[in-house]
Amino acid sequence: MSTVPAANPVISGLSRAQSGEAAGEPESWQRQLAAAIRDPAVLLKTLDLPADTVSTPLVPVEGGQPAFPLLVPLSFVNRMQPGNRNDPLLKQVLPLAEEQEAVPDFVADPVGDSAAKVAPGLLQKYHGRALLVTTGACAVHCRYCFRREYPYHDEPRRMSDWQPALNAIADDNSVTEVILSGGDPLILNDGRLAELFGHIDAIPHVERIRIHTRLPIVLPARVTPELLKLLNGLRSQPVFVVHANHGHEIADDCRDALRQLVSSGIPTLNQAVLLKGINDSADVLEDLCRRLINIGVMPYYLHQLDKVIGAAHFEVPVAVGLGLIDELGRRLPGYAVPKFVQEIAGETGKTPLITL
Ligand SMILES: *Cc1c(COP(=O)(O)O)cnc(C)c1O
Ligand code: SF4
Repeated sequence: MSTVPAANPVISGLSRAQSGEAAGEPESWQRQLAAAIRDPAVLLKTLDLPADTVSTPLVPVEGGQPAFPLLVPLSFVNRMQPGNRNDPLLKQVLPLAEEQEAVPDFVADPVGDSAAKVAPGLLQKYHGRALLVTTGACAVHCRYCFRREYPYHDEPRRMSDWQPALNAIADDNSVTEVILSGGDPLILNDGRLAELFGHIDAIPHVERIRIHTRLPIVLPARVTPELLKLLNGLRSQPVFVVHANHGHEIADDCRDALRQLVSSGIPTLNQAVLLKGINDSADVLEDLCRRLINIGVMPYYLHQLDKVIGAAHFEVPVAVGLGLIDELGRRLPGYAVPKFVQEIAGETGKTPLITL
């Protein structure tokens, strides 16, 4: 995929002045992203774990870059427990040899993205909602990501490349919500975001702009006053869907960022993926949901894992997920229980998984 960070103009080559940072201010999110850990050996050393804790033979692709390299910001690493090789946050980001095992039914495009493409960078599967694959870049590489094999290099890069997608949205007045996804749309700097928002906001039938992002979780410094101003200046209603899988992700800096979104009036929801050895327990999910609702972030979806190549070792049986959701229903207020869903290619929405 095309997420080689050094090639991203947002991340590389930013001087202090360009990033609008004055001496003495906290490190800008761009600088934090540039300083993210990319080497498994460095990550293990940082966590006081022996280098042979895991084998990490990343498959090189043409050009010598690993196919889906490790990437994790220090703000996220700081929430991991040193010395714990089973840390639930570490497990989400550390490449393992198991990823390279071919497993039947685990494929490159498990959710039918390629069949849903209506213009470059534009996926439309569900009524009323269109999804822009805004960028291939993320602030973190989650090993279970269903788009880890997505052909981002075919997608728009410059603003002018977006015109066909914007035209398709403008021509279809059934589209009332535009979802910016990726990759992670908040990897774009404020200038590019403002430009993209401006084009979408100018389409009269668009009522909401939804941002699917993991940055407020893994790189909370991204939630700046400037970003909030930009979002609150939109004609359309902004909606945030963030992505945290474990309560340990909701550390103080993350909590502050989420509180700022919520207190500025932006509805903020969380989606999680059910992951073996990470959050496949009622205690862990209860803790996550309580931490979220206690700052006004509503649990939205708990996703059954999409069967993407390299993620088989994270799979939890659906029956186990159903049992966990039932248990959450006994422990939590109704609004705190996420919907357990699976994305099935060709369906008209996410498919609810429920105990009959
Ligand atoms: C998941 C998804 C959506 C959003 O679905 P909701 O149920 O509204 O959250 C929209 N478009 C695509 C292509 C999706 O994969
Ligand atoms: S942040 Fe989202 S899109 Fe990026 S690697 Fe993680 S799950 Fe995938």
